[in-house]
Amino acid sequence: MEFNIASIVRENIKSMSPYSSARHEYAGIAATFLDANENAFGSALGVNYNRYPDPTQLKLKAKISTIKNVPVENIFLGNGSDEAIDLLVRCFCEPGKDNIIVCPPTYGMYRVCADINNVEVRPVLLTTTFQLDLPAIENCITPFTRIIFICSPNNPTGNTIDRNDVKYLLNTFNVLVVVDEAYIDYSTEAGFINELSRYPNLVILQTMSKAWGLAGLRVGMAFANEAVINFLNKIKYPYNINTVSQQLILEALDNHEVVNEWIALTNNQKAWLSKKLSALPFVQTVYPSETNFLLVKARGARKIYTLLASRGIIVRDRSNVILCDDCLRITIGTAAENKQLIQTFKSYDA
Ligand SMILES: *Cc1c(COP(=O)(O)O)cnc(C)c1O
Repeated sequence: MEFNIASIVRENIKSMSPYSSARHEYAGIAATFLDANENAFGSALGVNYNRYPDPTQLKLKAKISTIKNVPVENIFLGNGSDEAIDLLVRCFCEPGKDNIIVCPPTYGMYRVCADINNVEVRPVLLTTTFQLDLPAIENCITPFTRIIFICSPNNPTGNTIDRNDVKYLLNTFNVLVVVDEAYIDYSTEAGFINELSRYPNLVILQTMSKAWGLAGLRVGMAFANEAVINFLNKIKYPYNINTVSQQLILEALDNHEVVNEWIALTNNQKAWLSKKLSALPFVQTVYPSETNFLLVKARGARKIYTLLASRGIIVRDRSNVILCDDCLRITIGTAAENKQLIQTFKSYDA
């Protein structure tokens, strides 16, 4: 399969001219900026945010480039990786005509973004071991399929998706294969970032929201072939990452050590929690997890959810999700939070 990006980008996106911001048009060094209708006097704050942020986010991208070992041209930054998901759908899927494939149970935003844009969603269930059903995917692909979304490690099942299955899709179909690696920092397996140069149709999503602990700043990353990145940049809001987020993420990227400590802590707590939960008589399965959460199958999951909530502990009730009957998704907390969780679980009368 020879990937042909021009054949899958929407015609209007190909032909349109992007918005050209004041900061785009003048890139030199100047002392006096009278081009963007900003307030020249300052901000209604002790700190000044009166200037628009860098629309190209070059400093931040340069640092991410070093850390991830990916050229700047292959990096897109979004207002959370959710923005990248939305832009991918809008860039490649013609409303009312094209479709995407998702593999439930999985992250809900792929479908939401498609629904908003009137793009057909063709779901292909994961197998009972939460792996890709390749023959079913193959059957489901149409000439109008533009994107296959794969989440690995998968939310809410916690497992990674078989690497060779993803490669098969990448090698076989003229579609974008998006691998959402929001939880890759917790995984013992390598992600796909080192495969970027091999697959022009591969898009990898990562985020600052989970292991880095920066969900409130809303910064996510997409890594892909330069042609794909250029189209995403063409249609994003010019100032999609605000000044504060750009500055703080730049700072945070120096603190990799504490992130690694948290990952180790999370994995220790996950093992402890998994052991304790497995010992409870009404818990049927604690699924293996390469993430910072556990999927737990328990008799009376909905009731347990309600009990926990009544004690002020909120977990995610997934019991109505396909292939997740009687399942709760539980984020790994601090040692104290996890102890409290187990105490409350123990008071449940199945
Ligand atoms: C949490 C999560 C995200 C969220 O990303 P943001 O960068 O916070 O928008 C994306 N994908 C999956 C699978 C997630 O679980």
